[in-house]
Amino acid sequence: MSARAGIVVTGTEVLTGRVQDLNGPWVADRLLELGVELAHITICGDRPGDIEAQLRFLADEGVDLIVTSGGLGPTADDMTVETVARFAGRKLVLDNRLEVMIADIVSRLMARFPNVDADAVHAANRKQALVPDGAHVIDPVGTAPGVVVPGKPTIVVLPGPPRELQPMWPIAVQTAAVQEAIAGRTAYRQETVRMFGLPESGLADTLRDAERSLTGFDRLEITTCLRRGELEVVARYEPDAAESYGELMTLLRERHGEAIFSEDGSRVDDQVARLLGGRRIATAESCTGGLLAARLTDLAGSSAYVAGAVVAYANDAKAGLLDVDPALIETHGAVSEPVAEAMADGALSRFGVDTAVAITGVAGPGGGTAEKPVGTVCFSVKLADGPAVTRTLRLPGNRADIRERSTTVAMHMLRRALS
Ligand code: ATP
Ligand code: MG
Repeated sequence: MSARAGIVVTGTEVLTGRVQDLNGPWVADRLLELGVELAHITICGDRPGDIEAQLRFLADEGVDLIVTSGGLGPTADDMTVETVARFAGRKLVLDNRLEVMIADIVSRLMARFPNVDADAVHAANRKQALVPDGAHVIDPVGTAPGVVVPGKPTIVVLPGPPRELQPMWPIAVQTAAVQEAIAGRTAYRQETVRMFGLPESGLADTLRDAERSLTGFDRLEITTCLRRGELEVVARYEPDAAESYGELMTLLRERHGEAIFSEDGSRVDDQVARLLGGRRIATAESCTGGLLAARLTDLAGSSAYVAGAVVAYANDAKAGLLDVDPALIETHGAVSEPVAEAMADGALSRFGVDTAVAITGVAGPGGGTAEKPVGTVCFSVKLADGPAVTRTLRLPGNRADIRERSTTVAMHMLRRALS
């Protein structure tokens, strides 16, 4: 027994890439947590024929559950409920309770727009109170209600805006129709291991060996993914295969213990935030233009340890804002370890902090030389009360890759320096 699902993301703005799909991946994660196998995510525009084709395709594939996102609004191009009703062979019926509820929500919204014709708005919203006969209604978070249409497959219809879809999902899952549709689900465990400084091929070798030597390796569903210069290994398995996962972990620790920085799913950003507790940090950035500071301050509560950042792109900014001796730049070049160290020193003293990171490099595409080709980046991490670590790396990729990878390297250097 198992339960399989498909997701239909609708919306011409998503199809054309103007809006990046957040609902497909989000629902995919929830299905995974539930132990429902996701077979497909499809994306189509706001045309009923195309939506129907996706529903048909997934139903023909034999999925137990279809989740749709988008197209529940009051406008003429919002056709999903109508299309799903037709597909499921159900009439649309007016839900009186819903009509009152939507009218009430809309009246409150309209109070802010006194010049809009309220009657026209109510007429448009009345459409949203039409639901497939026998469907379970999920009350709106915005103005659009969701519906769960029982059947084989059961279809969950949710609105497009993620802030509306997300709170409505758990309510949809609790309905009898969805519970019945996913009754065959398997409880999986999922573990994530993250590594840094190990090439993908090195991990592939180890996994090949594991396949040969570990019993029950085939019961582990393993996916590896290279992201931001980190290797992520996700293992999914049924609880009784836990021993095989343990054996795999032993092998990974044996071979790649140095590279493993997380076994509990935590990210380097969270780890650095934890390690910075009780400290104050400042960054001095050239080629990353403040990306490291942006990453450090991405986490709520970072004001407790982030003092600030200097983006010193030009040489005279490095001298003027970070007290880098111009002679040092003259002698070694702006992309050099002595300059990176001087930038870190400048950040330490100008901000009066105990932790500083400096980054200076050639992000390209121009500006590379034989000695310092594009991708050459110098890093310096300095602790007022501890050692300084300075290092030069050659990072691969284009300008965006090099800048992003530089922030990841800096995060890992920080993590090592602080732990
Ligand atoms: P509304 O009542 O807001 O029209 P709706 O259910 O009709 O809700 P859509 O018209 O499909 O939803 O989308 C409304 C907006 O929600 C989109 O313009 C977009 O900003 C956001 N949105 C829709 N689908 C997605 C998605 N898959 N990922 C991220 N954002 C989305
Ligand atoms: Mg809409």
